[in-house]
Amino acid sequence: MPDILSQSVQYLKSVGPKRSESFSKIGINTVRDLLYYFPTRYLDRSTILNSVKVLQYLRNGYEGEVTIIGEVISKELIRYGKKQIYKVRLKDNAGFFECVWFQGIKYFKDIFNQNDFYAISAKPVLTKFGHLQFVHPDFDRLAEKESKEFMHTGKIIPFYRVPKELRAANLGDFSLRRIINYAVENFCSNLSETLPEDILISRELLDIHSTVRNLHFPGNHNSLLNAERRIKFEELFYFECMIALRKSFVKNKRKETAYKTDSKFIKKFLDSLPFKLTPAQIKVLHEIRKDLESEKPMNRLLQGDVGSGKTIVALISALIVISNGYQAVLMSPTEILADQHYKRISELLEPLGIKTGILIGGQKKSEREKILGDIEHGKIQLIIGTHALIEENVNYNKIGLVIIDEQHRFGVVQRYNLIRKGNQPDVLVMTATPIPRTLSMTLYGDLDTSIIDEMPLNRKPIKTYLRGESKLNDVYKFIIDKSKSGYQTFLVYPLVEESEKLELKAAETYYNDLKDNHLKELKVGLIHGRMSWQQKEQVMVEFASKKYDVLVSTTVIEVGIDIPDANIMIINDAFRFGLSQLHQLRGRVGRSDKQAYCILITKDEYAIKTNQFSFDFNYLSDEQIEKNKSIIRLNAMLKYNSGFELSEVDMKLRGQGDIFGTKQSGLPELKYANVVTDFDLLVDARELAFQIINDDPSLAKENNSTIRKNLKENFSSNILLSQIA
Ligand code: ADP
Ligand code: MG
Repeated sequence: MPDILSQSVQYLKSVGPKRSESFSKIGINTVRDLLYYFPTRYLDRSTILNSVKVLQYLRNGYEGEVTIIGEVISKELIRYGKKQIYKVRLKDNAGFFECVWFQGIKYFKDIFNQNDFYAISAKPVLTKFGHLQFVHPDFDRLAEKESKEFMHTGKIIPFYRVPKELRAANLGDFSLRRIINYAVENFCSNLSETLPEDILISRELLDIHSTVRNLHFPGNHNSLLNAERRIKFEELFYFECMIALRKSFVKNKRKETAYKTDSKFIKKFLDSLPFKLTPAQIKVLHEIRKDLESEKPMNRLLQGDVGSGKTIVALISALIVISNGYQAVLMSPTEILADQHYKRISELLEPLGIKTGILIGGQKKSEREKILGDIEHGKIQLIIGTHALIEENVNYNKIGLVIIDEQHRFGVVQRYNLIRKGNQPDVLVMTATPIPRTLSMTLYGDLDTSIIDEMPLNRKPIKTYLRGESKLNDVYKFIIDKSKSGYQTFLVYPLVEESEKLELKAAETYYNDLKDNHLKELKVGLIHGRMSWQQKEQVMVEFASKKYDVLVSTTVIEVGIDIPDANIMIINDAFRFGLSQLHQLRGRVGRSDKQAYCILITKDEYAIKTNQFSFDFNYLSDEQIEKNKSIIRLNAMLKYNSGFELSEVDMKLRGQGDIFGTKQSGLPELKYANVVTDFDLLVDARELAFQIINDDPSLAKENNSTIRKNLKENFSSNILLSQIA
């Protein structure tokens, strides 16, 4: 008998071919898909008030939202002058209330018909006529029967997302609910269990049938919570299984060689540097060295704020491997950064007799072929480049160490493609994008972590200011004044990349205007994303050699660039940037012992508001956070210098979804769980997953068969799993 769950939804009651087509447009093809289409919200009777209760709440000074259910009595569109008000009157078993909108609600004509039942959620107010009123509320339409059942039996009503594809097939809240109800009643019991029995027992989790049933139509609040806990646990558990598998996959390999460190050689190199390593740098080098000297491949994340000195740590690690006769490869996200690394590093390594090469796009064919040959024959020992390093025709002699700089800019596939050019090389990935601990546990859960947690001693904290656009003239004066004592300035413009031509034009307009007017007594340079890397490189070299006082720039300078005498960073339209981008930009200055400045420019009204605003997440409602995001970002820049503190703020503003860039992690997206609010569950799932995989890395044991089957069925498209299986 064919598996009923794999059959098309078409055969369900009241679906048919047309609706089935609409379902498939939103990714629901089979009955199983439909069973896993869970509500996004629920209406829970325990949270419903009646109109008299709401009035009581109001009198007692309650300021939050309430939910109330009523039957529509009338609706009208009131115009006066240019303004319009949409008003709907409703009643419940205790009294009357009204809803108003000052801007048109979509489809006003089609909704709020007389005798319809609606659930209304919003902050209540009392009008001057003493009416209970809701302004711009959320609303859900209920069937009459439903609302009766709901009020009298205490049922919880699910609400599903009804995208326009479904609406087009005449599917609305009720019809969708009815179809899903039919599927749940008849086919839920065909689902096979997706977690091993012993885990269900030890974690006191619901079985899969009750879970799916309760997520759709929970009998009460508690059963909903239990179902949610189970589905979240399951998601986190399989997620952590993937990470544990990744980790065990690497750890069970053997390298070709466990390297030996030539301490004298390293010491000689250290003595040649113009500075002493910080204790933090020494500490992480120790950790890396241990890995290099082990037989198992290293898989390590090096975290350190911008300017903390990660490059030199990577370089010393490379030297250990190179002095054992292997090659090291350093991959950077941009050509200009690769080029900068190449210049600095080759200068340092030349005296030691070590050859450095660079491989990036846009090199001359003859030059490229020469380099490719030298790489293949091992004449170049340290290879620096961009993703040009992973192209098919690049053959390495013997890769011992792969270093990924600014790793958050690469995808997992790119990383993997470089790594597999060697035979189980050691891997060091570096990032300055600070990640809250909760996230690094998951996102980088398969990596060992080293953190550089202090800055080189000579650094003074950067002074950060926020100025309105009307103060720009003062800012220009400041730049001119400071340039007299050798200061150089980055002047950054965000460019909305509508088209390449426009971006170029905008950058050039700013540049010409500054050069000919406000900054005409200074030497001004321009760099933008539409230049070839050779052009960019030339500008950077010219800037570094002080041919310019000011560099007008689009955000190409965002990552990694290191020009110690550039000590002023001006960011125009600062409210447009994300927090980590602002922090990266600010990190371009303050790289020497001089006092550095970062001036954020924004619209006057924003600047005033922001300078007055002081945020404290403990006292802000979600709504206030949502409304004030850009102000909070700017405020945080004024308040914090440390990337770690900023990353916490960033996460609160963006939620996990955005930061949790699945593309770069190569891990499945979390649909149900939230690594922040479900942290305890995460830790438990993680411990369990690691224990199971450590015990049985190939999941061959009989009692792990459910896990094995489930991973295969659901994650086989995952690149890392396919390489394991
Ligand atoms: P990041 O960690 O952001 O990649 P870099 O490696 O580019 O930082 O280092 C920033 C600057 O600090 C460089 O100019 C580097 O030479 C310098 N630097 C690194 N380590 C030290 C140190 N221990 N003392 C002083 N300066 C250092
Ligand atoms: Mg760097």
